[in-house]
Parts: sequence; C-alpha cells; structure tokens
Amino acid sequence: MANRKYIVGNWKMNGLQSELSDIADIAAIASSHPTVDAAICPPVTLIAAASSQNAAFAIGAQDCHFSENGAHTGCISAAMIKEAGAGFSILGHSERRADQHETDADVKAKAEAVHAAGLGAIICVGETEEERDAGQAIEIVCGQLAGSFPSGADAGWLTIAYEPVWAIGTGRVPEVSDVAEMHAAIRSKLAELMNGGSEQVRILYGGSMNGGNASELLAVPNVDGGLVGGASLSAEKFGPIIEAAAAA
Ligand code: PEP
Repeated sequence: MANRKYIVGNWKMNGLQSELSDIADIAAIASSHPTVDAAICPPVTLIAAASSQNAAFAIGAQDCHFSENGAHTGCISAAMIKEAGAGFSILGHSERRADQHETDADVKAKAEAVHAAGLGAIICVGETEEERDAGQAIEIVCGQLAGSFPSGADAGWLTIAYEPVWAIGTGRVPEVSDVAEMHAAIRSKLAELMNGGSEQVRILYGGSMNGGNASELLAVPNVDGGLVGGASLSAEKFGPIIEAAAAA
C-alpha cells in the first residue's frame, strides 16, 4: 500500500504570537485534504498555543535534548515538548548539525529519547555541495542514516528527511533523477537497518520545495512527502504544496 504523503513545515527561528493565525490558516487547508498528513513545526515558544488552538492539526518541535532532564541550560527535553503539545520532533537538521555541531550519535540518542517519551521523529540527512561534487553523496547520506538510526525504529514513529544541504533555502533543487537515486538508496539502507517494515517508513524530500515544484518532486518514487522551510511560513505558499500532495 502506498504511503500517505506527509508534508511538514519547518518554521525554524521564525514566528511570534502574531503569526499563530498563519498556522490556523494552514490547519484549515490541511483539514480539507484528509488524505494528506500535514504538520507545522513552529519555534518552541509557539508549540503550546499552536497545538491548543488547532487541536486536529499536528504540531511538532524542531529539536530536543537527548537527556530526560538535568543541567543543560537552555535545552528542552522530549517530555517538555510533548507536554507543550508536540507530537513529534525534527532531529538532526543540517543547520543544527552545522551550527550546534550535532553528531550522528547525538541524533540517534535524541530519536531514542523522543520515542521513549511517546513522540515521533523526523531524522534529517543530506550531503553538502562539495560531497555531491566529489561523487560521495550516497555514501555520506547512507552513513548519516546508519549512524543516526535509533534502536527499535519502525514506521509508526520514524520518518526520514533527505535534505541536500546546498538546496536548503537556496532556491536550488536537485535533478529529479538525483532525488530518485538518493531516495532509492535510502530505502535500501532502511531495509538493511530494519528487521522488516522498511517500505512503510516515509522518506521526505526537503530543499527549496514550493508550490511550483512540489508536484514533480512528490511524483518521484520513494518520495513520501516534503520537509518545507521558507514555503511553509504562510498558507498562501504552503497550501499549494498540501494540494499537490493530495493530488499526487
Ligand atoms: C528546511 O530547512 O528543512 C528546508 C527544506 O528549507 P527550505 O524549504 O527553505 O529550503
């Protein structure tokens, strides 16, 4: 059975209380496309309000710590994001891997922590432009996947997002053939890493997805949805992506 498309917006460090109405507008569009799973990951400061104001719409976090609690100033635990109303967390986004020096081992520990708290995880992987130019993209991405892969994972709580670093926020998108090749490689790697059920794990594409290219990207084999940054910040931009997923 084909996977339901999953369209996730990553608001990054954008969004004040005054932008909660954009989440309500997006939730309204999502509710008219029940064949698509849609979600928004606002900054942590908006999770509680966004989830209480849009009870039927999925809200996620963008990160959490791998420890249950303790002396980690400024960090947020899985139980905290759950209590705020998040149903899952993005983990290992390339901006965190670069800016906060997160390692594959950190990402694996975070994924295990969110699962232990009863939440889902979206683990991000992706190569830099230099790695792609050197012909190492598949090796790098499959290595990240293996290193970040949580124990006991299954499709009920784990999603993978392939995000070429050079395509994030740049307006540049890989060739469809390159997306197909990478998603097939990730699917094969999942089969190696799991004791069954790998076909059901959703693999999202992320990197400058928008209303103009979503249909083409979502039609690629093994592309089960999208992780969307810039084009998720308004209903005007995110709505067409949800609509493209519904038509895919
Ligand atoms: C992202 O940050 O996950 C992302 C895909 O961003 P953008 O859509 O803006 O490229």
